[in-house]
Amino acid sequence: MNLPSPPSATVPLLGPDDPPAWRAVNADGRAPVLLVCDHAGNRIPAALGTLGLPPGELERHIAWDIGAAAVTEHLATLLDAPALLSGYSRLVLDCNRHPGGVGSIPAASDGIAVPGNANLSETDRLARVEALFAPYQAAIAARLAAFAAAATVPALISIHSFTPAMNGRQRPWQIGILWDEDPRVAQPLLAALAAESGITVGDNEPYSARDPHGYTTDVHGTRAGLPHVLIEIRQDLIADAAGQREWAGRIAAALKPILVDPKLYAVRKPRSSRGSEAMDDTTRTELEAAAFRRLVQHLRERTDVQNIDLMNLAGFCRNCLSKWYRAAAEERGVAITDPAAREVVYGMPYDEWKSKHQKEASVEQKQAFDQAHKAH
Ligand SMILES: [Zn+2]
Repeated sequence: MNLPSPPSATVPLLGPDDPPAWRAVNADGRAPVLLVCDHAGNRIPAALGTLGLPPGELERHIAWDIGAAAVTEHLATLLDAPALLSGYSRLVLDCNRHPGGVGSIPAASDGIAVPGNANLSETDRLARVEALFAPYQAAIAARLAAFAAAATVPALISIHSFTPAMNGRQRPWQIGILWDEDPRVAQPLLAALAAESGITVGDNEPYSARDPHGYTTDVHGTRAGLPHVLIEIRQDLIADAAGQREWAGRIAAALKPILVDPKLYAVRKPRSSRGSEAMDDTTRTELEAAAFRRLVQHLRERTDVQNIDLMNLAGFCRNCLSKWYRAAAEERGVAITDPAAREVVYGMPYDEWKSKHQKEASVEQKQAFDQAHKAH
């Protein structure tokens, strides 16, 4: 079958002097844990200048998660886990948003308009997705696939940071634990952090993992059934090296007892209510089989629809369906005779159906059949 190939950006966004879209830290870490940092960097590809912003804005929280990259790097060491960090500013392309979805290429952030993101063509958007989102997400998928190939179910830990005040509102939490339907890491982590004196822990604050716009932990964690959590740390606490070390140490200490439990490392079926992406294979096969049974039932009831009508209109008939059924059985090493396969479709022996329901084909029907046969 020829599928149209997706439109492709003609000019690559990253030039020879731009660094890669992502980087790995402690790639050979031995823990069954993958750390990710979606908003680690504030770089802009050279071709995009400063996106029309004064350079000072690119140092602010709107461009990246201040301090998150350093905390992630410390955690990679403390947990002996590999980490993957995105390389470019989320103002260019947010690696934690569905491409083309809300916030993927923000027109404004925290009240600051981003001139370089106004009136982008589809080609411009695609160039950013291909250059930044796709390689970073592919690197995560590849690392998780490597765990799977080693028969390991890893835990996914995503590190972010948040600004102390957003849209004029102060945020009281030092740290926020974001989770959706999988409590395995989040709940004990909330409890461990809350047990420390002087820490205000946000439970799905200041953002919620149930927000439908997030990408990384939703796709690689929830939908893949991996144990996971998203951790948000307030930026004023991790703005300098001492704070970054302190909070990485605190988070590692809280995580370690959770991560040593071997029972954690199992795939947990996601709720199947989120559409086909979250559906397990058995359910999908059952739905497909149900649609097939419905089609067969329909054809049994609509005996007025002749096989020649089906052939003329759609290029297949009840006999084709039974042949497909038989071919699928053969592929799986199941022997079914032609009459038995036909009976599955007709609900009775084929000869019986013919004598009951098949009408003599009209001259017009035969002519149409000959025409269709020639055409296909
Ligand atoms: Zn973030």
